[in-house]
Amino acid sequence: MNDKTELVRRLDQVNGKGYKAYQILKGNYRFDGFELFIDHVQTDPYATPSRMRVRVDRSATGFGPGLTSNKSRNIALCDFLTRSFSDHCRDKATQERGTGKSGLITIDRPGQEILEHSAMVVTPEYVEARFFMGLPASDRRIASKDATVMFIRVLPDIVAGSLFMDRADSGRVHRHIEAVEDADFLRSRLDALGLVAFVANGSLLPRASGIDDAPLKNGSIVPFISPEAFEVRVDFPNQKGIVGLGIPKGVTLIVGGGFHGKSTLLKALAAGVYNHVPGDGRERVVTGAGAVKIRAAEGRNIEKTDISAFINHLPQGKSTTIFSTANASGSTSQAAAICEALEAGASALLLDEDTCATNFMVRDMLMQHLVAKENEPITPFIDRVEALYRERGVSTVLVTGGSGDYLGVADHVIQMKDFTCLDVTARARGIFERHRSKRKNEARGKLPDPGARIPLNTSINPRTAAGRKRIKSRGRRAILLGDDLVDMGDVEQIVHPSQTRALAWALVHAGRYMDANMSLKQVITAVDEALEHEGLDMLMPFVAGDLARFRSLELAAAINRMRTLSIKHELFERLT
Ligand code: ADP
Ligand code: MG
Repeated sequence: MNDKTELVRRLDQVNGKGYKAYQILKGNYRFDGFELFIDHVQTDPYATPSRMRVRVDRSATGFGPGLTSNKSRNIALCDFLTRSFSDHCRDKATQERGTGKSGLITIDRPGQEILEHSAMVVTPEYVEARFFMGLPASDRRIASKDATVMFIRVLPDIVAGSLFMDRADSGRVHRHIEAVEDADFLRSRLDALGLVAFVANGSLLPRASGIDDAPLKNGSIVPFISPEAFEVRVDFPNQKGIVGLGIPKGVTLIVGGGFHGKSTLLKALAAGVYNHVPGDGRERVVTGAGAVKIRAAEGRNIEKTDISAFINHLPQGKSTTIFSTANASGSTSQAAAICEALEAGASALLLDEDTCATNFMVRDMLMQHLVAKENEPITPFIDRVEALYRERGVSTVLVTGGSGDYLGVADHVIQMKDFTCLDVTARARGIFERHRSKRKNEARGKLPDPGARIPLNTSINPRTAAGRKRIKSRGRRAILLGDDLVDMGDVEQIVHPSQTRALAWALVHAGRYMDANMSLKQVITAVDEALEHEGLDMLMPFVAGDLARFRSLELAAAINRMRTLSIKHELFERLT
């Protein structure tokens, strides 16, 4: 390994030359207290900044082994360090060092959720931060003086400020780690407790805005309080006797008037499959890891999915046991989303009427009179929701302010009223008995058992027609694989763009398992296990530093949304 003086010498050597001469920096350098790895050097001041890593001896950092004694703790410590590194970048790196990204130093900053990210790695031997640096240029000429300042002054400052235990910060580090450990602990026990989710009293659920996931900051926030009937007391590893709402398994309705806080609660439950930073307000909102937010997504692709539980005898005799379309309707897209989630192993469904297809949710008595069942392909969700739980053990939490028929199929009903949560189960039952409509259940027989879907590796083609390799993401909402643009806009539980980036690479990885024998479920499980054992780095051929972990449920969602998806259907094979 070179000494940092060698880096300075190389910088001197290329001063004022064309930008490409920066390539000479590639390599490893020993600094005082850390090692610097320059893995990839940008070819242009406007291109993606250069990829680098710094590595500090674990023993020098002061982060003892207790802080990483289990996976939850390790992820939390990495997250803490990433935020701290990012804060110091913002404070110390200035972008006023020339053209393009000159002067920039960044690390992939986490959002409100604490996810496993590849930006930081803590092992018993070292702490490693993966970051990006915009090598400075004046026009397109190398500005070595600025670069030298960045390497010799700014970077060591950032490292010293963020990657070592600071006594003043010790309390914050512990709180961060304990919050994650507690939430993970409860999540692993929800099932045994008979719960879909837990919302601690005092949680602050509303967000700053529709596009800002930070907590709402104003004086009039109503902290969450559980109705007595649903109160559960939980002992966490680091905190005893926390009381809150336990949403039991089964069918739970969240009812209430418009603007009373229903969707806010459901969104918190959807986000509760992840852990949150202290101060977020949702640190102790914990949802089972298998909960899937379901919504309608008109226009999406569906490939050989059995949606016959919800849709049957379509016009023109189109099959729905092996249903494909390049342009789904609201109701078929929602049916597919549910069937795909079940296939991928979902344990609970979260639905909000705001984003559901009305005709998928219910057909009321008068409509049943007007349009005979024979002329309606849809078996509405209301007629399947109980069977989903009784036959498959899949619970539902549904927000509805509009359809009273659901009172007849709910095990539990909670009402949001002025942002407070009330138990109205008994009242709802009474009302349903008194006003019971003559609406008929339209489900015929049990839930169908779909055959296994076997994805073929021809589905995965990272090359464009022009032969260029393209494995990319666009924000949180889209994956670009070859010429295919995979619209993930309706997959609400992707919370960070780095999850989408990781998903793009995971599709390629998944392709390796697609051997015409493994089912889709087996493929996503194989990828998940590989990630669990080898970590995020295994997804890419180089160390990236900007990947985040996703659930296998979201990988299934990505596979199912590819327009290039090609499925060999077990049942289909038998029929043909
Ligand atoms: P609904 O789904 O019942 O129509 P929302 O959940 O969308 O209502 O909430 C309506 C508005 O109230 C949103 O702007 C939301 O941020 C805000 N809000 C939700 N919960 C609270 C709360 N506990 N305290 C203060 N404001 C809240
Ligand atoms: Mg709403």
